[in-house]
Amino acid sequence: MGFDATRGASKVTRFVYWEHPRFPKSVLGAPYLFLKPGFFKLVNHHWAIGFVVLQLAYFYGVFLFLTKQQLGLWVLGLSILLWGGLGNIMGVHRMWAHRAFRARFPIRVLLMIGQSISYMWSILEWSRVHRTHHKYSDTDADLHNVKRGFWFSHMGWIMKKEHPLVAIKMAQLDLSDIESDPLVKFNSKYITQVHIIFALVLPMAVGVFLLQEPLLDTFIIVYWVRTYHSWHGTAFVNSAAHMFGDKPYNRKIASSENSFVSIYAGGEGYHNYHHTYPWDYGTGELGNKLNLGKLVIDICYKFGQTYNLKQATPEMVANAKARNAAHEHETIEHEF
Ligand SMILES: [Zn+2]
Ligand SMILES: [Zn+2]
Repeated sequence: MGFDATRGASKVTRFVYWEHPRFPKSVLGAPYLFLKPGFFKLVNHHWAIGFVVLQLAYFYGVFLFLTKQQLGLWVLGLSILLWGGLGNIMGVHRMWAHRAFRARFPIRVLLMIGQSISYMWSILEWSRVHRTHHKYSDTDADLHNVKRGFWFSHMGWIMKKEHPLVAIKMAQLDLSDIESDPLVKFNSKYITQVHIIFALVLPMAVGVFLLQEPLLDTFIIVYWVRTYHSWHGTAFVNSAAHMFGDKPYNRKIASSENSFVSIYAGGEGYHNYHHTYPWDYGTGELGNKLNLGKLVIDICYKFGQTYNLKQATPEMVANAKARNAAHEHETIEHEF
């Protein structure tokens, strides 16, 4: 969909996605990205080609799943996926970026390794992008602004030119609370080395030497298929959970309650709640239902490994719902 880089540097716009006149077109157009002339206008071709390779490798993984009995490899891949997922969900998202709870050192180390397995920037850079996303949600200053379309907010933003306002607002952000964390410093320096060891070398060694599986099959299943689900799980939070679902807590924001995303992304799909109470460690009202992140934080809490868990009170949530319902029939003001 159209994007005017000269627009918006001086004003931040707020927007409700499905009220956009071009909404159906941008959704239907997303899967055909690589067939469209717009592909050649992308700024990051190596990322675009990387995503095509990732998708083809994933298809080969599906072929292996359907044709070979490699249960051990899939269990191994799923375990690494869960570790990396928790590094994102529980670690960099809820603990470092939002400070929704604290954890003892061994848990923090495990989460830092998990975040390195997922390999989506360092903890510091991820937190910088995410805090900006919350502060300027669905505006030009939001790096994966859903206003620019489903595909853009899903993964297209990695390949396309960012709005000038993104860098301006990110530079103004205060990250001093996590900058001094030794694990964050270590992660900024050695994320690639940790990723290679824990996402590639060790799982490959287990697959090839312990499970006696072929090298290529092991690589596809425990590395590429895991990467595919890890990245799409995160990306759906930025796209689908900002477009589809109910908005019981605040109907004036695009983020929505999306069960599909919650299943896929370990509880990160209760996004209307999360954008209303970003500091809540549970990121949702429904307890541990479809919320792997909250379940693991709660288990760790029982063993004294997590503490200072922040949570919105039932009164706060009930008040937000009542306020929201009272405005149900109002037309939402937005600018384009
Ligand atoms: Zn969001
Ligand atoms: Zn968040």
